[in-house]
Amino acid sequence: MRLLVDIKKKLKGFSLEVAFSLEGEYTGILGPSGSGKSMTLKCIAGIETPDEGRIVLNGKVLFDSEKKINLKPQDRNIGYLFQNYALFPHMTVEENIGIGLKLPQKEKKQKVKEMIKAFHLQGLEKKYPNQISGGQQQRVALARCIVYKPDVLMLDEPFSALDAHLRDQLQIEILELLKLYEGGVLLVSHSRDEIYRLCKKLVIIDQGKSILCGDTKEIFRQPKLHAAARIIGCKNISRCEIISSHSVRAVDWGFILETGRPVPENIKYLGIQAHDFCLLDVVPGKVPGKEQNNVIKCKISKIVEGELEYNVYFRNEELEVENGNESEEMNMNSELVYQVRKELWDNRKNKENLYLKIPEQAILLLG
Ligand code: ADP
Ligand code: MG
Repeated sequence: MRLLVDIKKKLKGFSLEVAFSLEGEYTGILGPSGSGKSMTLKCIAGIETPDEGRIVLNGKVLFDSEKKINLKPQDRNIGYLFQNYALFPHMTVEENIGIGLKLPQKEKKQKVKEMIKAFHLQGLEKKYPNQISGGQQQRVALARCIVYKPDVLMLDEPFSALDAHLRDQLQIEILELLKLYEGGVLLVSHSRDEIYRLCKKLVIIDQGKSILCGDTKEIFRQPKLHAAARIIGCKNISRCEIISSHSVRAVDWGFILETGRPVPENIKYLGIQAHDFCLLDVVPGKVPGKEQNNVIKCKISKIVEGELEYNVYFRNEELEVENGNESEEMNMNSELVYQVRKELWDNRKNKENLYLKIPEQAILLLG
């Protein structure tokens, strides 16, 4: 799938300005709720019309405001699974799947039968949507989308209506089912796990604007921008002051970090993913040597137990000695969180003191 989107659309109280160009079979769109993800898909599908710009899919111009091209939704050959995938309640499973197929009755019947089999819906052909489970409804909705072989299949938060357990199971199932389909997939989600697992390419949208586009793993590794770091789930972010070409001061946390790589001039923030700290398991009484850089002596403020991990909230101990300032705001910003596997935490040797090392490659330099 080759997709170019470069559009603007002004709505009351919201303006969409999305520009990206991608090549890849599975592409994700990630962004907070209300950031314009669904609106972007609707523009691609032709349900909404941008004020200006261009949309080109696999070399076919779907929309071009200058050339006055605006293909009707039914001429775009796009499958669109809506956020609240609505099946027609008064139609059976087989009728729902066949609704978009413009084929002679006999061929249509055959096609629907194939889909029913491929999607493991045998025996449910005559049932109505309210007589089948959420997972089954989901499969019917997906079957309905791909039965007519769209060039691109757009899935708008396809798993958000399901509970967590069903969601995991369904993700795996849907991936299997999508192998039956040969076109591109555009997946919208606010779940980073979902995107990371399914999509090779990624567009990040924030407040109506596409702020980053590229390889998913690369963006997760180096989100480059403050907003992007937040969206991929980076919990520790501090304002930053550049000290030298290879060192920065984390203003909110009160320590200096060696970056091990040149710091670009436009860097304004630092990020550290909560699971990226290294626990220095020193023997009690032995302070980690000064030869180690980026080591923080931590003052723990609270520990929250999760299913597999602890969230250890802490501050730089020396920060408080330095400032002695306990203002509410400072407390909020100076706190960091370390996410650690229970086993590692429970078996640590030094239970009196906590020293964490921040590996150079874990420092996110953000503009
Ligand atoms: P997302 O899918 O990322 O959660 P949406 O694309 O649904 O966000 O919506 C983005 C913004 O556009 C929201 O602020 C929403 O209120 C607004 N919006 C959506 N549809 C319309 C519309 N038809 N008219 C005016 N504003 C709209
Ligand atoms: Mg949406």
